[in-house]
Amino acid sequence: MDAEVFRAWIVSAAGVIEANRDHLTQLDAAIGDADHGINLARGFTAVLVALDAPGAKTATPGAILTVTGYTLISKVGGASGPLYGTAFRRAGKALGDAADVDLPALAAALDAALAGVQQLGAAREGDKTMVDALAPAARAFSKAIAAGASPDDALSVLVEAATAGAAATVPMQALKGRASYLGPRSVGHEDPGAVSTALILGALAGAAQARR
Ligand code: ADP
Ligand code: MG
Repeated sequence: MDAEVFRAWIVSAAGVIEANRDHLTQLDAAIGDADHGINLARGFTAVLVALDAPGAKTATPGAILTVTGYTLISKVGGASGPLYGTAFRRAGKALGDAADVDLPALAAALDAALAGVQQLGAAREGDKTMVDALAPAARAFSKAIAAGASPDDALSVLVEAATAGAAATVPMQALKGRASYLGPRSVGHEDPGAVSTALILGALAGAAQARR
């Protein structure tokens, strides 16, 4: 997977976030402050501008993710901006200067993204956050690769695990972030950040599978 694939991922992620902006915002209205879709759509719009800016450093997969991360941190308010920004920056750093990224390198980048999110936000699995989508997805992806799955199959496993992880947040009580202020009343709703994580990983799989 080269820089073109990673650019296609981010462009597709921006599109899918825009298309789901109202849905994400409605999820956040139930257990937060109704801004998650708005926050992320604004952030990814800024990312698209940053990637096309004259002199933007976008020659490698790692550079593209690093620009994405910095832009999300600077443009997105709320909890999700620094968390997603850190995830993309850490993933970019893990990929280093490589011109081409294989499955194990991508798996390591996802692990680095997860570690960054958990270092910053201190959420564990079960706390009803984006970690509940990212952690099982990263784990299932690594497991599929170790078991010899084809790239297409490993990417499908990644998305399925993220989507299932997001769905599994419905019965959870939020222990981190704004939703935790609701206590038991946060039960019964899907976590917006877990849903957006599944959407963003879906865009990754789509972009990578399209180029194969
Ligand atoms: P805010 O909560 O500041 O309004 P957003 O609405 O954009 O920010 O994002 C909310 C999402 O951020 C939540 O659904 C959750 O997935 C994620 N989140 C919040 N706090 C944390 C945390 N400490 N660790 C991981 N994810 C978190
Ligand atoms: Mg919010």
